[in-house]
Order: sequence, then structure tokens, then C-alpha cells
Amino acid sequence: MPMIEIKNLHKWYGDFHVLKGINDHVDKGEVLVICGPSGSGKSTFIRCINRLEDYQKGTITFDGTDILDKSVNINELRAEIGIVFQQFNLYPHLTVLNNVTLAPQKVRNTPRAEAEETALKLLERVGIHDQAHKYPAELSGGQQQRVAIARALAMKPKAMLFDEPTSALDPEMINEVLNVMKDLAREGMTMLCVTHEMGFAREVADRVIFMDGGEVIEQAPPEEFFKNPRHDRTKLFLKEIL
Ligand code: ADP
Ligand code: MG
Repeated sequence: MPMIEIKNLHKWYGDFHVLKGINDHVDKGEVLVICGPSGSGKSTFIRCINRLEDYQKGTITFDGTDILDKSVNINELRAEIGIVFQQFNLYPHLTVLNNVTLAPQKVRNTPRAEAEETALKLLERVGIHDQAHKYPAELSGGQQQRVAIARALAMKPKAMLFDEPTSALDPEMINEVLNVMKDLAREGMTMLCVTHEMGFAREVADRVIFMDGGEVIEQAPPEEFFKNPRHDRTKLFLKEIL
């Protein structure tokens, strides 16, 4: 059974048909890279998976359960499927440590001491345990994004969504974030990553999917995707970004 299964997913923003029948499934431990031009529906697609967006047609199942089922607790779903955004979205008034410990305490009722112990380990894992008592504004973009990853991991997610996590970073900070993501991928995390970092895709993706106009136009393992793109739109896109 795939961990995430998407069947005939359609979404409209008002009259605008943004997702036009997406079908896919993601196995446990699979790393999927999603690319495509701006406005093609990539963010909308991954945001549907943890119900940050609603959708009007089709089904998404997670571990065999329809995510719209009455039995699904939305906070629990979002804990199990973590997300990292382009703009970090840290709580500015909380220290790094408290950014990471907040949700486990609130959603999982984890005692404070235990949440802090886990948080410090995660901050160490992403290479910033020495920044635990600073506020987000005192950190570089790359450090803030690593806090955002640690914050998502604090919920012990089964899968992680990344929405262009390095697009807002200065070039010298991109690798520190990609390296954390590569480690996660190698440790077996199930990941759906919207990114145009094709080096990352080549190194750790199991599959690359190309979206345009709300549809998946083609998909293939990275070697094949880069060497033999089939559709003109994919070729054009690759020519523009590589
Ligand atoms: P991508 O992430 O590939 O750039 P998005 O999923 O953000 O694409 O957006 C897909 C399309 O949906 C775009 O045309 C965008 O303008 C539109 N869109 C995104 N969010 C909204 C919204 N909240 N309301 C209306 N239209 C939206
Ligand atoms: Mg987007």
C-alpha cells in the first residue's frame, strides 16, 4: 500500500481550474521532486496533501485513510505530514527552541522537558544547536530554514513536504539547507519536494515530476528525466533552468 495516494485530484479557485486531475502515489521512503513553471499548481498540489488547501474532486489517502474522513484530526494529519515553506514562517516572537517545542507540547501533550530534549537533538542534527536561545530575526535565512525543518521534524512526521525551501535564500546558504534535506532523504524520509534545485533531484530523488497548467505532464527517474525529457514543454523548462 502506498503511503500517499492521489486519485483524480481537481481543485478550483473560484472559476479557475488550478489542478486538473492529478494521479500519483508515493511509497514509504520515496523522494519525489516536483518541478514546473511558476503558476503551474505545484504549491497548491502539495498543500492539498496536508489539507492546507481544500479540493473539490478526487481523493487523497494517507496510510490508507481518506484525509477528508471524519476520523482524521487535521492537526494530527499536519503533524504526520510536515511542511516547510519558502518563507520559513517561524514564530517571530518565540526563540528558536520555543519554535521547535511549541507544537509537540500543544498537539501531542509532550512534557516541556522532553520536548526541549528532542528539540536540542534536532537542532544539533540541522547544525544550529548553538542558536537555540536566539530569535528568528537574529538568524540568517539558511539558519531560519533549518529551524523550520527541525520544527517539522519535532512532530516525528511520517512524510515531509517542501515548497521551494531554498528559493528565498542567498546563494551561499542554499547548500546548508539542501544538505539537511539530502540527509533526511538518505535516512529514509518520505519526501515531496517542490524545487528547481536539479542537483538535489539528481542526487536523491527517486522520481521527478513535471507539472504545467495544473497537470502532471511527465515523470521519470532523474537520470531519464534530465537525459530524455519527452515533452516539448519539459525540454523548454529544462533549457530555461539548467
Ligand atoms: P506554483 O506553486 O506552481 O507557482 P500555485 O499552486 O501557487 O503555483 O498557483 C497555481 C495557480 O493558482 C496560479 O495561477 C495562481 O495565481 C493561482 N492561485 C494560487 N493561490 C490562489 C488563491 N488563493 N486564489 C486564487 N488563485 C490562486
Ligand atoms: Mg509555488
